[in-house]
Amino acid sequence: MIPYGKQNITEEDIKAVTEALKGDFLTQGPTILAFEKAFSDYIGCKYSVAVSNGTAALHLSALALGVNENSKVLTTPLTFAASANCIRYCGGQIVFSDIDEDTYLIDIPQLQKVIESHPKGTFSGIIPVDFAGRAVNLEALKDLADQHNLWILEDACHAPGGYFIDSKGIKQNCGNGKYADLAIFSFHPVKHIATGEGGMITTNDEKLYQKLLTLRTHGITRDKELFENTVDFANGTEKNQGDYPGWYMEMKELGYNYRFTDFQAALGISQLKRANQGIERRTAIAVKYYESFIGEDFIKNQSGVVEGHAYHLYVIKVKDRLGLYNYLREQNIFAQIHYIPCHLMPYYKQLGWKTGDLPVAEAYYKDCISLPMYPTLTEEEQDFVIRMIKEYYV
Ligand SMILES: *Cc1c(COP(=O)(O)O)cnc(C)c1O
Repeated sequence: MIPYGKQNITEEDIKAVTEALKGDFLTQGPTILAFEKAFSDYIGCKYSVAVSNGTAALHLSALALGVNENSKVLTTPLTFAASANCIRYCGGQIVFSDIDEDTYLIDIPQLQKVIESHPKGTFSGIIPVDFAGRAVNLEALKDLADQHNLWILEDACHAPGGYFIDSKGIKQNCGNGKYADLAIFSFHPVKHIATGEGGMITTNDEKLYQKLLTLRTHGITRDKELFENTVDFANGTEKNQGDYPGWYMEMKELGYNYRFTDFQAALGISQLKRANQGIERRTAIAVKYYESFIGEDFIKNQSGVVEGHAYHLYVIKVKDRLGLYNYLREQNIFAQIHYIPCHLMPYYKQLGWKTGDLPVAEAYYKDCISLPMYPTLTEEEQDFVIRMIKEYYV
């Protein structure tokens, strides 16, 4: 069977996890911080916060950015539902804005129209998604965001190792925090770096970083500097900061248990060492798909060869997509569809969204199919996939 995505676990990974299991900490230990530091170095940001999954990363980010019942937040309909759901967890409203038909990313000129067709101050933030691994031009997006005083939360789940080139010719890695307030990643097995479940939030903002650390673990802090209570409850005497007993801690706000574990962090560190190799292999697979399909009349569009693309997915748009999908399944090739537009899910329809609202994303969905794309896909397997696709159309 050939799936669309798959983890790559090596003997080295297994050794790293085994070592971690023999250590003193299964959770809340030093390996988590070591993974966070290694991840920050890889991405090129100041701070990383590891959490239990990508969805938890989105939820905590939305909380840290102050999303509440009065918030209206913009995102793309072409994403996994969690990118939008995180705003709903906090009681806010989601406004979907259509995609660009060539890049499949949120269409920035269209986004500007949506923002400007609402009264000033309607929106509080934007959640762009580096769909399929292609980096959103966050420099352009930030220009627009700054004009309207919006924060940016980059959903970079598809794009660790991806980048765009800014107007000064500098590579800007997805999640590096240069143009976004926060960015999030997932370590689900289909993503680039796999830890079973897992997620990461990256930022350059120290205040947001501190807030995320507290929110990740129940809103509790042990940092004396942050203590508010000045009375010793045991005997009613005033206390100076620093007089607190060793066990003392404070729950300052309503947080969650969205912690990551040390043995997952050990796996993450080990996986991260092969991240660049993974991108290289993904790129080679993309180039081969691209060259094999150039000029074929069943192809309407494809991901193509784009600098800085992290190739979580390789998408082709084809004639008779359903027929191709079913034919590939008969050959044990499990291509996948990314995504059914979010606004057409019954949950979002019940909130007022309907067919026709986002015509570009809906047209994309009619033709798209994501082909097998993962570093351990062999040459022979890829040749077989390409041959079966061509065979279907003769
Ligand atoms: C995978 C994914 C998520 C959610 O990550 P989980 O770790 O599965 O919770 C969010 N957004 C996008 C774009 C994703 O691909």
